[in-house]
Amino acid sequence: MKEFDYIIIGGGCAGLSLAYELEINEKLKDKTLAIIEPRDEYKRDKTWSFWKVANHNFDDCVKKNWENFTVNIKKNTNHLQCTSYPYQSVDSGLFYEKINNKLKGNKNISFFKNINEINSKNSFVFNSVPSIKKDHRNLWQYFCGVEIETQKNFFDDKIFNLMDFDCEQRESVHFFYTLPYSETSALIETTWLSRMNDGSKKDYDSQIKDYIETNLKLKNYKITYKEEGAIPLFYPTYEIEKNKINIGTAGGMTRLSTGYTFLNIQEHSKFICNNIENILNTKKFEISKKYQFLDDVFLRVLEKHPDKMPDIFFKMFKCSPKTVIKFLSNKSNFFEDLSIIFKMPKITFIKALFY
Ligand SMILES: Cc1cc2nc3c(=O)[nH]c(=O)nc-3n(C[C@H](O)[C@H](O)[C@H](O)COP(=O)(O)OP(=O)(O)OC[C@H]3O[C@@H](n4cnc5c(N)ncnc54)[C@H](O)[C@@H]3O)c2cc1C
Repeated sequence: MKEFDYIIIGGGCAGLSLAYELEINEKLKDKTLAIIEPRDEYKRDKTWSFWKVANHNFDDCVKKNWENFTVNIKKNTNHLQCTSYPYQSVDSGLFYEKINNKLKGNKNISFFKNINEINSKNSFVFNSVPSIKKDHRNLWQYFCGVEIETQKNFFDDKIFNLMDFDCEQRESVHFFYTLPYSETSALIETTWLSRMNDGSKKDYDSQIKDYIETNLKLKNYKITYKEEGAIPLFYPTYEIEKNKINIGTAGGMTRLSTGYTFLNIQEHSKFICNNIENILNTKKFEISKKYQFLDDVFLRVLEKHPDKMPDIFFKMFKCSPKTVIKFLSNKSNFFEDLSIIFKMPKITFIKALFY
């Protein structure tokens, strides 16, 4: 059976981002790479959005940039600007196409459907398939989004809505998210932050229909695309192995309070690429312990007081938008952290330390 210097398990966002980073930095000229990916074909399946706080390789896959956004609760809307760090949406279809076209040109890179097709004993493995044990106490961000088209101009495509809490909460945390790509098209997503004990919140189609028709007051539209997913708001478990690094969601690249993962994956890929020659002795790349601690407290409050969360999120965005964006994107300094912390209900958060 064939052997390879490197193996990437999972050719999704993290696996392909890493392969691309290695390829464009010429780290695969004299090394061989096997990518293990079971899917039969690549097609658009996700929209990755984030504030651009760092450079990445996929500006040409960006569907749209925004410099303004809103956050709202019932009867109250906050208008915010993000000129320094525009919000971007990457089209996964364009991303897969760009990377696969580039990787095709290198004979040292091969794709397999199953790891059993190769000999992996002497390879260094980058694994992006998370091991998630079923535990009903775990928190998830689960969502469904549809892209719609209208016949007449309807949306203001200069401004997106990050969180609209003016919707039923069902003793949980629920908001809608709207990304207007043009005056006649938008992605509208229903998002829940809670345990996923039963399917009771997954009546996504009727939630979205009701939001579009009642809240947005839009009657004539057609659905052109749909995506559904769930992001674990906990770190998947893994065993430490000398010849293996976990990447992507499996590698703890999700910011647990927000679900944002894409840009962390890009930074992790660059880190691995810069250290690839000495990968066996390279320290683990992780989201700073400061954010791990703060997110842990935040999620404890979220679990205990879901009813308070719309107000808490709303208050957080009363800080300067630049500060909040840096905080949510792991780029804030100590003083910026403090200004966010001071906006939070102190007693609730202090109590959460002891739950
Ligand atoms: C619908 C959706 C929307 C999201 N939107 C955002 C967003 O807007 N912003 C953001 O920052 N994050 C977002 N995320 C979170 C995160 O960025 C994505 O989940 C991202 O795809 C994670 O990358 P990954 O490589 O870890 O996982 P994936 O991209 O899921 O890649 C894992 C790959 O492993 C393959 N695989 C599965 N089983 C095996 C196996 N046994 N052997 C080998 N391969 C296997 C899968 O086919 C897949 O290609 C979103 C997630 C989802 C699901």
